[in-house]
Amino acid sequence: MIWKCKICNKTWHYSSAISPMLNNDKWLQILNYYNIKNKRNTFICYKCMEKALGRKLKKSDLVDKKYSFNDEFRYWYPFYK
Ligand SMILES: [Zn+2]
Repeated sequence: MIWKCKICNKTWHYSSAISPMLNNDKWLQILNYYNIKNKRNTFICYKCMEKALGRKLKKSDLVDKKYSFNDEFRYWYPFYK
């Protein structure tokens, strides 16, 4: 399945690992930044997430629950320690 980032229009084959699920407040902050009303089924890549937040993603931005795609993201993404 190919996903297209709503913001930068870049296409990705594996949506999950490059678009982690964030805590609700961070997600809303990003949607507000881009003025997106549709909260569901909106795919935004991590690069555009970071642009909206004005910084790199942190581990604490990701939801705590067990999601396999967040695990994938954690696995490859170089979080600042
Ligand atoms: Zn993007």
